[in-house]
Amino acid sequence: MDTGIDRGRITELLARENAAYVAAHPRTMALWQRAQASMPNGVPMSWLRNSFEPIPMFVDEGDGSHFRDADGHDYLDMNIADMSMFTGYAPPPVVEAVSRRMAQGSQFMAAGEDGVWVAEELARRYTLPLWQFTLSATHANTEAIRVARTFTGRQAVAFFDGHYHGHFDESLVSVVDGEHVPDEEGLPLDVTSRTVILPFNDVAALERALESRQIAAIVTEPAMTNNVGLVLPAPGYHDELRRITRETGTVLVIDETHTQVVGPGGLTRMWSLEPDIVTIGKSIAGGVPLGAYGMTPEVADVLQRPAGRDDPKPLVATGGTLFGNPLSMAAARATMSEVLTAEAYARSQTHGARLADGLEAAVAARGLDWTVHRFWPRSGFSFTPAMPQNGADAVRDLDVDLRRLMRAHLANRGVWEALVGAGPTCSVAATADDVDLYIDVTGELLDALTA
Ligand code: PMP
Repeated sequence: MDTGIDRGRITELLARENAAYVAAHPRTMALWQRAQASMPNGVPMSWLRNSFEPIPMFVDEGDGSHFRDADGHDYLDMNIADMSMFTGYAPPPVVEAVSRRMAQGSQFMAAGEDGVWVAEELARRYTLPLWQFTLSATHANTEAIRVARTFTGRQAVAFFDGHYHGHFDESLVSVVDGEHVPDEEGLPLDVTSRTVILPFNDVAALERALESRQIAAIVTEPAMTNNVGLVLPAPGYHDELRRITRETGTVLVIDETHTQVVGPGGLTRMWSLEPDIVTIGKSIAGGVPLGAYGMTPEVADVLQRPAGRDDPKPLVATGGTLFGNPLSMAAARATMSEVLTAEAYARSQTHGARLADGLEAAVAARGLDWTVHRFWPRSGFSFTPAMPQNGADAVRDLDVDLRRLMRAHLANRGVWEALVGAGPTCSVAATADDVDLYIDVTGELLDALTA
């Protein structure tokens, strides 16, 4: 694609930035070399090796919107661990609640009062009454699909092209040259027989796919934020999605794992959406693992067992030893009552608007025909004059080398974005100075690219 930037210049600058990063990270390099004897790729999740060239990030500590790496460099984090630390690092109320809970016992495989409070608060925020807990958003989506299968008696699940909902089998399918294919190795070959991938913002395609009444659930983010930068729903698209899913008896699962950053209750609340199930995870417990899903009474009925063990209803495959443990619940209670408050969301939105204004001005000043989006606390570029309408548009518009350069350039100047292509988000801990630093450092790169 044509971003208006010379490709040779991108390659040259990327090589220079990568070399500078290596030179500034001797302790990280030593740690990474040592780690290769005990972990594939020298990292606790092997894919982290791909996440940053030339060497993976090793972190010592963080607080607020910043962290320090193993070489003592300070970074403003504008991806905040793929939004899982939207609270900022080490939020004091969560530190206090977790310390207290740890001293009182952190795991009993039993219910507790904090869990009741957290379910009530999620019900209030997301306007769905009945909640269940896991340890991750991935597992919340896995269980939501099992609930939907039980509710509908159907097998297949639909997602939108460019989606990401976690590393579980059904979700790791894409369409390549018109064929459904597994995304990676290790998945069952027949995984494609139970997954349908549809283009976002295409009502006719949705209608055609769902009219067979073979699809148990459609799982979607309310606005697509993954793999594809940002894709917004066209006006009226959510109404059509709800109408068609209702008419065909398909369970509508809205995944708010990322979009919860827009405000309490995410886009479900902001846009008055009416999903059958909402799934969530990441920052709801301030960085302590917790996933959750909320349901309507009708859908949740498949889990209800009034007669307990003697109930004749078959068990839905849900649950795990540490799911919804007291430590996660104490952290979630502190997070929602004291950190992710309405005021904190409002502050992050103000900073997000400042960020979008600054990026827009930076692009305009260099005469680049790029689009800057505004998504409450989040912003970022598309290297094209218009926003993508679906995953295929977005993939075509994603200049990975330019994104990699952007990240390396930022990292060498004390700004971190963990993922290529995600774009910056202001955590509730970010300050106006943080936003201005991001804009200035980005402007320096645009100068280097357009000089
Ligand atoms: N849903 C969405 C929308 C996500 O962005 C992600 C992670 N990027 C997940 C689910 C999975 O979250 P986790 O890896 O924490 O299970």
